[in-house]
Amino acid sequence: MSERAHLLPAVQSRLDRARQEPGLCALLVVRLRGMREAQLRYGYEFGNEIMLAARERIVAVMRHVDTVYLAGDDSFVVLLPTLRNRTHALLAATRLVGAFDESPLMHGDRNWHGRAVVGVALCPDHGTDAELLFRRAELAHDEALRIGEPFAMYKPESTPVEILYGELRDDIAANKLDVMFQPLYDLRRGKVVSVESLARWTTAAFGAVPPSDFVPFAERSDLIVPLTRWSLNASLRHAAALHRGGAPLDVAINLSPRVFAEQGFAEQLLGALEIWGVPADSVIVEITETALLTDLDMSVRVLRRLRDCGVRVAIDDFGTGYASFAYLRHFPATELKIDRSFVDGMLADPRTEQVVRAMIEVAHRLGLEAVAEGVENAETLRRLDEMNCDIAQGYHIGHPTLAETFVAERLAAAVTS
Ligand code: C2E
Ligand code: CA
Ligand code: CA
Repeated sequence: MSERAHLLPAVQSRLDRARQEPGLCALLVVRLRGMREAQLRYGYEFGNEIMLAARERIVAVMRHVDTVYLAGDDSFVVLLPTLRNRTHALLAATRLVGAFDESPLMHGDRNWHGRAVVGVALCPDHGTDAELLFRRAELAHDEALRIGEPFAMYKPESTPVEILYGELRDDIAANKLDVMFQPLYDLRRGKVVSVESLARWTTAAFGAVPPSDFVPFAERSDLIVPLTRWSLNASLRHAAALHRGGAPLDVAINLSPRVFAEQGFAEQLLGALEIWGVPADSVIVEITETALLTDLDMSVRVLRRLRDCGVRVAIDDFGTGYASFAYLRHFPATELKIDRSFVDGMLADPRTEQVVRAMIEVAHRLGLEAVAEGVENAETLRRLDEMNCDIAQGYHIGHPTLAETFVAERLAAAVTS
């Protein structure tokens, strides 16, 4: 049973008693941002101690009639009875957020600077059932995250985006997203040498949500961290199956620039490689050109660390950003992926073809492999071959396929050949 399920009966009985008393009740969901990551980095013992310290801090700024429950690895539920009006609920939320802003939480000689985000739901205004109030306070919490505020009160007319946030979070946690593999073809060796991992998300309410929608959405909230963790593990799990089955392929994984700011990201990735037993030099991380520019120093540092361990690095969507050639000299990349807008326009426009030719040459001069994306027909492939392009990807080579299916077919072919 989840901690929440254990908690609900206690919250319900406290709520029922509070309703006998005059005034309003508020249920607050409090999440400490970055707590989960701190726990994974420094250990559960550290996490537990910090959560205890956090609990004390919350108790210190609440009234003696308020109850604080531990609700998960990084969260608390606070029940506030006998409030005069809704403003008092928001004042309590403000006090609570302020308590974490003042000074870091300590455990031994290590400190942790947490930031609390609070969602508020009111009883009876937003419900009298503990579970419903809990969910509504969570929705308010998500809304607070979305708009970048430290706290928010539940609003009955919730927009699809709020619902989407909760659904995406739950579906990532429940491993309900899918991985697609799309093959990449080596022009000189004349065979498929790798796959790019592409995420897919299908929801009950909105159907298939394309990654071009939900990835930026995840990036704007804190969901990019669990999404990346999910994508790494799911991609490597399928890659490991190919290695074990004697039909190994390299695997390319898309990374959002935001993960570079996450402490310990390189270690997380290297740890995942070890867990799945996938060799570092068979993994390529893809970073878009524009992404690189948002925090060049940080990205370079993390990518260097990965390069030192053998992980390869591809510059994705090359040609669409406003990057100068200067950064390419210092950037620890191993391949350059020419954006599909150029590859797509190649046949119709001779100048675009010359641009592609120049990009391939730049890649080679810098000692990088040239990869062409969006190859949709044989003629494009032929021209790319003439230009000495190293690798091609696109519908002409193969569409993205559910990784399970892709792996099964590949393993079956390996057995018969
Ligand atoms: P991308 O990295 O440039 O991925 C290639 C996109 O082009 C994929 O779209 C793929 O389905 C599509 N594509 C491949 N070949 C062809 C072709 O021949 N013609 C055309 N018209 N399209 C082709 P998809 O899967 O919708 O992904 C869109 C973007 O979402 C990706 O662009 C990538 O930036 C991002 N993305 C996907 N999965 C993940 C993920 O797990 N994590 C992160 N951070 N980003 C992801
Ligand atoms: Ca990509
Ligand atoms: Ca791309």
